[in-house]
This record gives sequence, C-alpha cells and structure tokens, in this order.
Amino acid sequence: MSHQPALTALAAADPEVAGLVEAEAQRQHDKIRLIASENYVSQAVLEATGTVLTNKYSEGYAGRRYYEGQQVIDQVENLAIERAKAVFGVDHANVQPYSGSPANLAVYLALAKPGETIMGMALPDGGHLTHGWTVSATGKWFDAVRYGVRKETGRVDFDQVRDLARRHRPKLIFAGGTAIPRTIDFPAFAEIASEVDAVLVADIAHIAGLVAGGAHPSPVGHAPIITTTTHKTLRGPRGAMIMTDAGHAKDIDKAVFPGLQGGPHNHTTAAIAVALGEAATPDFRDYAATVVANAKALADALLERGFDLVSGGTDNHLLLADLTSKEIGGKPAAQALDRAGIELNYNTVPFDPRKPFDPSGIRIGTAALTTRGLRPEHQPQIAAWIDRVVGAAARGDESVIERVAAEVRELLAGFPMPGYTA
Ligand SMILES: *Cc1c(COP(=O)(O)O)cnc(C)c1O
Repeated sequence: MSHQPALTALAAADPEVAGLVEAEAQRQHDKIRLIASENYVSQAVLEATGTVLTNKYSEGYAGRRYYEGQQVIDQVENLAIERAKAVFGVDHANVQPYSGSPANLAVYLALAKPGETIMGMALPDGGHLTHGWTVSATGKWFDAVRYGVRKETGRVDFDQVRDLARRHRPKLIFAGGTAIPRTIDFPAFAEIASEVDAVLVADIAHIAGLVAGGAHPSPVGHAPIITTTTHKTLRGPRGAMIMTDAGHAKDIDKAVFPGLQGGPHNHTTAAIAVALGEAATPDFRDYAATVVANAKALADALLERGFDLVSGGTDNHLLLADLTSKEIGGKPAAQALDRAGIELNYNTVPFDPRKPFDPSGIRIGTAALTTRGLRPEHQPQIAAWIDRVVGAAARGDESVIERVAAEVRELLAGFPMPGYTA
C-alpha cells in the first residue's frame, strides 16, 4: 500500500513526513469522502504539482516578467490560460491567484475601494466568507450588504436581492457560495446587477467542474467576472483562476500582480493546465453528469429515510441536511460519521437556531466519490449507512459505527484511488 508517485527520496530523507503522507493517502483510500469542496486529483495532476517548476520565480505575465529564464514558464502559463479560455469560453483568464480567497480579494482590489458597498450571500445561507461576511477582511474593509434564501424554499430570495441592490447600490454583487444545493440563476443576478450598475461576480468555486462538464449553466455572458478555485469539482491542484470579459482583463491582471501577489506558483499553474486538459475530455463530461446523478440519487435515498434536506433536494453536487428531526446536532453526527469511515462536515443551515460551531446541519458532496467510480446504484447503501450512524450516534451506540467503518472499507476496496496503490 503506498502513495503514487512513490515517495522514494522523501522516505529516505525524511521518514517522518513520508510516513504522514502515506497515512493520509491510506485515510483518503479508506473513507467515503463526502466533503463537498474536496476531490481526488489524477496522478497526472499530482505529478505536475511535484515538479521543478516550484524552483522558479516569475513575477509578471508571459513576455513581461521581472526575472530572466522564463522561456519555459511562459509557455506553461500560456497553455493554462488558453485551456481555461477554451474550456469555459471566456475572453481572458488569469491563472495566478494562490487560492479562491485571494482571487476574490483581487476582484475587490480591482473594482472597489475600501468603505464602498458590496453585496454577497450571507454565510449562514450558503455564501462564502469572502463575499463580505463579518469576520472576513471583505466584511471589515467594505460596507457589506448580505442577501439570503427564502425560509419556505431554501432558494435565493431574488425579491430581497433586488430590494437590497436598489437600496444600497453596491459596486459588486457576488453570486455563488459554499453550501448552495440548487442551480445558480446567473441571468436573474445579471438583470439586477445591470439595473443598479453593479458588476456581477460569479464565484463558481464549487461548481466549476460542473460548468466545465456541461452539468450546470455557465455564467459566461451574464457575469463579466468569474472567479473559481481549481481544486473542488474541477479536480485540479489547489489554486484559483479569474476569468473575465475583454473589458476587465487589464484591471484584474494588475490587481493579482502587482496589486496582491508576488510570484505565481508555477508548479500549480502546470497542474491547472493538466486539470483543464482533462476537463476538455468526454470522460470529464461523463464525470460531471455522474456527480449530479449521484447527488440526486443520494438525496432521494436520504429523503426516503426521513432526512430533511434544505430546498428539498439538489440540482448539483451538494446536499445540505438539517438533522433537527433526527435529534442530533451536525457536529456530533459528523464526528460519528467520520469514525464510521464517512467523512463530511457539519454546517449551518439557513435560519439555523444553533451556533456556527455547533450547527444543525451536515453538508454532503458527491464529487470525490464519483471520481472514485461510485455510481447512483451505490447511493442507497451510503444513505443507509448515514442513517444507521446518525441514529446510533443519537443513541450513543459505538458498535454500529465500527461495523459501518468495516463495511465502508470493504466497498471502497473495489474502487481504486488515484495517487495510491492498495
Ligand atoms: C472554496 C471557496 C472559496 C475559497 O477558496 P480557498 O481556496 O479555500 O481560499 C471562495 N469562494 C467560494 C464560493 C468557495 O466555495
């Protein structure tokens, strides 16, 4: 059992770190990974991240760098950019942001001044910290207005979005989030943004792989600025991109460098190019469709078992279950599920009466298990395990949890994990 590519030199030089990496590989192999922002990257992506490209400094952009020796790096970055443009159908792509949060910061830097008004979805309703939530720099440095979902439907309240936009006239409106189980209506956001002269920013961090694979409508043509991570459903390395129309290209590039960052992480850029190459294949379209089919099948199976899903189901890769009716909090449930080999995260649900650190819900995503090869026919079994473990945890019955962990390992033994040989 070992990590692939093999950690030969690492094991010889630093057995302590090598041992930890091996332990993590085995942990990822043995668990059903349902954290909605996670995935398994291919071995090709893994190899690209572990290359000598990490040795090179290349502040600036291709053809306009501040250090010599960019003959190869320029080609790597241009390849990633061209692939991003082709996969998403955008005019311009910046592939240098270190991660999703700095990508969003760069957008603020390009388009708003401190103290100006911006608008995003409230964190407890499914938004991201960087969309102006209170504890984030974006909530402290800007006058942040927050919209949410309707209590009855669990879906974005567009009447509220319109009212708030008219009243506060934000410079930027963020559409997107981290716990949104339904299709994001980019045209509806675009109409409101245009009415109040705001720039619409589509943050597709969670759904980028679905957009690339044709399983979620694209924001292109509706949002002039699109930010995304590359490591969630898109299944690339940890990184981010900002994609824009031609009119915003220069301002965004300037904001990323020299506005916010120094040298780009070239090994990551290479791995982004590899992931985008994969995202352009028919196999990836099949993956994206299966992610959604798996989520729907899991949602149906959980609903049958009496789980209360925010919005009543899902359109994408993500479900949000309110465990109030199961008489257990999200956190103890998530901890018990992890012991049972089912890894997910506790999460607030909209209008959650409990505290963010001990909320009512759990968030479930199907990207990683889809990469692993699990299909809709496996979802009733996963729902049954979740149900058994949540019930057992509510009763304090640890024996059930151990039995489920063994059953999970047995199922997963038939589904190889990229980056690991069992
Ligand atoms: C994950 C995420 C981010 C932040 O990405 P990091 O790489 O964790 O900084 C930003 N926006 C949304 C909607 C996300 O889901």
